[in-house]
Amino acid sequence: MRSTPTPARSEALSDEAVRARADALIAQMTPQEKAGQITQYFDFLNAPEEAARVEQEVAAARAGSLLFVHDPAQLDRLQRIAVEQTRLKIPLLFGYDVIHGLRTILPVPIAIAASWDPLLAEQGQRVAAREARAVGIHWTFAPNVDIARDPRWGRMIEGAGEDPYLGSVMAAAQVRGFQGTHIGSPGRLIAGPKHFAGYGASIGGRDYDEVNLSDSELWNVYLPPFKAAVDAGAGNIMSAYMGLNGVPATGSHWLLTQVLRETWGFKGFVVTDAGSAHDLHTHEFASSVPDAGVRALRAGVDMEMAPPFGISAFQTLPQSLAEGRLSTTELDDAVRRVLEAKIRMGLFEQPYVDLDEAQRVLNDPEHRDVARVAAERTAVLLRNDGGVLPLDARALKSIAVIGPLADSARDTVGPWVFDQDDSETVTLLDGIRARAGSGVRIEYSPGVTMPARLHRSIFDSGPHKAGPRVEVDDDAEILRAVELARAADVAVLVLGEGQIMIGEHASRSSLDLPGRQQDLLDAVIATGQPVVVLLMSARPLDLKGSQPDALMGIWYPGSQGGAAVARLLFGDVSPGGKLPFNWPRNIGQIPLPYAHLRTHQPKTAEERYWNEPNSPLYPFGFGLSYSSFEFSNLQLDRSEVAVGEAIRVSVDVSNTGGREADEVAQLYIHQRHGTAARPVRELKGFERLTLAPGERRTVSFTLKPQDLTYWAASTRNFVQDATVIDVYVGGSSTAALSGSFEVR
Ligand code: BGC
Repeated sequence: MRSTPTPARSEALSDEAVRARADALIAQMTPQEKAGQITQYFDFLNAPEEAARVEQEVAAARAGSLLFVHDPAQLDRLQRIAVEQTRLKIPLLFGYDVIHGLRTILPVPIAIAASWDPLLAEQGQRVAAREARAVGIHWTFAPNVDIARDPRWGRMIEGAGEDPYLGSVMAAAQVRGFQGTHIGSPGRLIAGPKHFAGYGASIGGRDYDEVNLSDSELWNVYLPPFKAAVDAGAGNIMSAYMGLNGVPATGSHWLLTQVLRETWGFKGFVVTDAGSAHDLHTHEFASSVPDAGVRALRAGVDMEMAPPFGISAFQTLPQSLAEGRLSTTELDDAVRRVLEAKIRMGLFEQPYVDLDEAQRVLNDPEHRDVARVAAERTAVLLRNDGGVLPLDARALKSIAVIGPLADSARDTVGPWVFDQDDSETVTLLDGIRARAGSGVRIEYSPGVTMPARLHRSIFDSGPHKAGPRVEVDDDAEILRAVELARAADVAVLVLGEGQIMIGEHASRSSLDLPGRQQDLLDAVIATGQPVVVLLMSARPLDLKGSQPDALMGIWYPGSQGGAAVARLLFGDVSPGGKLPFNWPRNIGQIPLPYAHLRTHQPKTAEERYWNEPNSPLYPFGFGLSYSSFEFSNLQLDRSEVAVGEAIRVSVDVSNTGGREADEVAQLYIHQRHGTAARPVRELKGFERLTLAPGERRTVSFTLKPQDLTYWAASTRNFVQDATVIDVYVGGSSTAALSGSFEVR
């Protein structure tokens, strides 16, 4: 073994000790070394000629951090250059997009949100952190806590959906999973919630486009998950690319300093999104690249994630310092925050990678189990007519598995996956074959070709790299698929979007099934055979009224996805996930948040369009299981409370079906009147339960004063009103069981 073990600090270091150590280093640094310390460079993926250049930058102390290196040996080599060849021997901080796993790929984040299981989110990110830390990565650009209410925006896959409460719970859980109890916890990373703030609201759902949000939407909807992540101790925040109400987020002193540090007390460091300090110039906000560097730093940025070499805004800071456009104190504050992160992570004591340990951790079979269970818990059953699911392996003789995503390893794991070995992924076809056993004949047809994108993704050669594309003659293959369906007892179709069609730089102006998948689906349904559709997607898709017997959203279920979904199909476990967004009937309804306001002509609330109901196809919080549940006996522990007091709500949940299954008890509130109008329903509590057949359990929630507090634009502050609050509890946002209490 050529190195020391992974750093481990079982307790947090004191703030004073960390600061003193950072200041001692700063006192020895030249302005160039300081600028280098707060610059993060890309190590170009798949570009060996650039690797040499990265090494030069590191050796010249022009980089304090690198992103995208994930090969443990390469990482160790670069770290040795920093520690052994630079004057001050300051180790590099390695950052990486550990979004849903490193080697073991978990379901994508929106799927984890659909589990409504914060412990699962925490455990999943603990596994991801453990693998990443073992290879020498210190910091993840995650969780993405952007609220997304427009499914045209491809990055809704990375967040927790449309709701600020669910988003906040998932944000905090992921920060805990990544970071452990403190920064520097053994086997954990620094978490970097992103993109601060409002990125999910880009107009038209177009990635990177401008965002215009009211104060009320910002404070009540888009900022709460960031606040929750900061309260959970996140060590880093990433600023967003886009402009918020006309000011680029990366140049917004209001966001990065007034809100983040002064109001919320954030103590970590702020990194820009890739190239977004430089982009203050592109945004026509800063007058030049040096001006962009100064304005980003002054707004509150501590580290620049630099665009490709040559155009780093922070490398111009020494010049601005010399010209008096920046003070040493301003520069030192940023440098200190970056050094403090390195000190807390224990990098000065143990910067290197234990290569043997890395292999051991990457191959830990327990991680695969976590990924499989996670995928099982994320699936959302949307239809199950006549109880076609679960399938009975003993009664079935044959299954036709159909669809371009059924056997695609690359699509099964989803975007933000680097260099995955496809043989480690269990596709849907693999999983169904293995679970069905030799007694069931499985026939497979891709059905149709998954179409290519009109524009290439800028990530084509990186984390969203397309897998091998299976090209078929669509007309002929649809006919073949129909024949297979006719000859089988059941047809299982795996349809949706390929992973290059969702994620960053993957917005879309349609919610249709891409290519000829709709024709394929309709042709198979027309056979009259039982049809199960497994929808691989991270946005709601429009199946144009087609009614398969069963429809299950399986997201991009990760490297164990096929095994998990097979267990769901055959009833080894029951689906229990719930939608983290309202599923519109068609794209024209967007945006369609469940938490909308009651406005003029409430009686026509369902008739806002003359051609279509206003309601979603499937509501937020909805999802079926293989059993049935009843909610009863809603109790409030009192009928009135004073402003500032808590109230307890309890309800009985009974499993009225014939098998063990999960239900998510969801608590919504509605405020009848107040300083501002409030949404018809807002989620304020939930709990996922597993109940045996016939079992009844009482679930209790505490509604705290902060749950009844909101930002009222007219007061420019948070208020809690004296009012009447209605409470609804049930298995979705359309829960019928209700009560109310008065706030005096
Ligand atoms: C994305 C970030 C990501 C970064 C590094 C950017 O384009 O917006 O979310 O962390 O790239 O990969």
